[in-house]
Amino acid sequence: MAQMSIHKLLIANRGEIACRVIRTAQRMGIECVAVYSDADKDAQHVKLADEAWHIGGSAAKDSYLKVDTIINIAKKSGANAVHPGYGFLSENADFCRKCSENNIIFVGPPVSAIEAMGSKSEAKSIMADAGVPLVQGYHGDDQSADLLQQEADKIGYPLLIKATAGGGGKGMRVVESSEQFIESLESCKREAISSFGDDKVLIEKYLTKPRHVEIQVFADSHGNAVHLFERDCSVQRRHQKVIEEAPAPGLSEDTREAMGQVAITAAKAIGYTGAGTVEFLYDEDGSFYFMEMNTRLQVEHPVTEMITGLDLVEWQIVVANGLTLPLSQDQLEINGHAFEARIYAEDPTNDFLPATGKINYMGLPVTNANVRVDSGIVSGDTVSVYYDPMIAKLIVWDSDRNSALARLRGALSDFHVAGLTTNIEFLHQLASNDDFIQADLDTHFLDKHGEELTTSDPSLSDDIIAAATLYVMIKQSSQNTFDEADPYSPWNESSGWRLNEDNHHIVELVFQGQHYLITAHFRNGHFLLELDGKELKVCGELKGNKLQLDLDGHKSTVSLAEQENGLVLFKNARSWEIEIKDNSLVNLDSDSQANLTAPMPGTVIDVLVSKGDSVEEGQALIVMEAMKMEHTIKAHKDTVIAEVLYQVGDLVDEGAELIAFEEE
Ligand code: ADP
Repeated sequence: MAQMSIHKLLIANRGEIACRVIRTAQRMGIECVAVYSDADKDAQHVKLADEAWHIGGSAAKDSYLKVDTIINIAKKSGANAVHPGYGFLSENADFCRKCSENNIIFVGPPVSAIEAMGSKSEAKSIMADAGVPLVQGYHGDDQSADLLQQEADKIGYPLLIKATAGGGGKGMRVVESSEQFIESLESCKREAISSFGDDKVLIEKYLTKPRHVEIQVFADSHGNAVHLFERDCSVQRRHQKVIEEAPAPGLSEDTREAMGQVAITAAKAIGYTGAGTVEFLYDEDGSFYFMEMNTRLQVEHPVTEMITGLDLVEWQIVVANGLTLPLSQDQLEINGHAFEARIYAEDPTNDFLPATGKINYMGLPVTNANVRVDSGIVSGDTVSVYYDPMIAKLIVWDSDRNSALARLRGALSDFHVAGLTTNIEFLHQLASNDDFIQADLDTHFLDKHGEELTTSDPSLSDDIIAAATLYVMIKQSSQNTFDEADPYSPWNESSGWRLNEDNHHIVELVFQGQHYLITAHFRNGHFLLELDGKELKVCGELKGNKLQLDLDGHKSTVSLAEQENGLVLFKNARSWEIEIKDNSLVNLDSDSQANLTAPMPGTVIDVLVSKGDSVEEGQALIVMEAMKMEHTIKAHKDTVIAEVLYQVGDLVDEGAELIAFEEE
């Protein structure tokens, strides 16, 4: 059957997945149509698309879930296909049906497959008939409490009650004993009704130490189906994935092959086409059980792309165009190892409570063949209450698991977000955890290790104090010429020392309510910082937004971003949001304001004025070199030079008078 191929694609989604789909479609020469809500009017997916249409209010139900509005915009814009991404309408059978009624290609499976997998209990019945292994359980229509209790007692405890319409970890209850069953059943049903509008449940044996292993499948409309191997998504919080990897560590070739074949059987059982994921519980004894099938592209699909070298969105479009799968099973192989870490605006120390607010600054690790960042957010964007607070997905690849983990730790250290709380430090601690490194995984990994992964020192260490103080001193010396176009390179422009300052400065830093009062002295080639009777010898250079710090001979690099009232420092995947008090840089023993003194020891490298010259405020007078950097010293007012006291090449002590001005 000949079918017109996709020439214009509407992406019925937002955020990173909309951006990710647009990139592939545009590379394939397909025009892209974005849709957006009020909150997303300046979002990246809107900018990236060839055209974008406003579809309503910020809440998803007023925009991204409006089936008819989106279909109408597809028609108006001339899009002949829709990609639903994940979430929102991606598993909505009604939306899929309306697409085909309007001759719009739905980039996904047929309606019947979505419907078949839409209910966890029906999905299980279909899979049982197809011979797919299931966890022992009850998924029948009779929902009377008595019957469910009887079935539960037959299965034994612990067991799990699941809302059949559930998803996203919601509507599940673990029951430890027969006595607790009815109470858990009622609470599960209440949550299911309010979240999914349907209180039907199934019950099944609760495996106590399983892994979550899922198989990526792909099928075309010509009867071909392949699997693209597995992903391990065992590290979960509240039954939601945190870090995913491919392949699953320690999975034998036989199990992989068996799981892959079962997944293909499952896909074929429902006449599947396109990309789908068959999720399994993989038990300690090596047995595995079908959990559910997700009839869409998954958040974690990039790890599969990294180990296969394929673009799954491209495959989706190929299949949606009615073509055959690009490769057969024997042409597919696993290459290396990949991780994906979901970077969220959330607080791991407070039960992963979502955070919202403006991202003042976002600095990404260098991306290349080993490191990929999928994001729909840039510096200045807001993480709103309306959508999932995921900031980005960080995906890394290397030839083996340990090397990939090293990449992950490195890239997390270079992932900098200022303005709101993120899980970056938590992810880094997770990637550094011995049991995680040993791949000792199961779905309770975070229940076991959560606490040790969420501790962080609430006080400032010496190197952070030194870095912040050094930065304040550097900023102070260059504040007259700060280059807005390149805000992190104050040294690129000539800088003017403030006139007539004495060589003692007080810098006050505030971190998590604690105040740090530091006295900074200029010394030959460095600063001496005094703090609580301790002395720190500090020098350094600022390159871009990286401060190369030398603290008592120990060199290290700290990254930074400016913020209102202060700065954020980044090091080893940690960040410190530090307030700099307004009264910082108070001069002690302030001298007479009459003449110009050297603020620090250095060498005069240029003298631009001579005795008797009239100078204007801001005019360059002398250029000094100190701490390997040049500083242009400027006049602080309109005045006349009475005397120049140093020549080119002279060494100058701190506080020395450089130029005398005539009295008014
Ligand atoms: P959802 O659709 O909400 O994501 P799933 O059925 O996919 O729910 O299950 C989510 C997670 O819950 C799984 O990844 C696994 O960690 C856990 N889980 C589900 N079923 C069982 C079970 N029978 N025994 C143990 N853990 C389970």
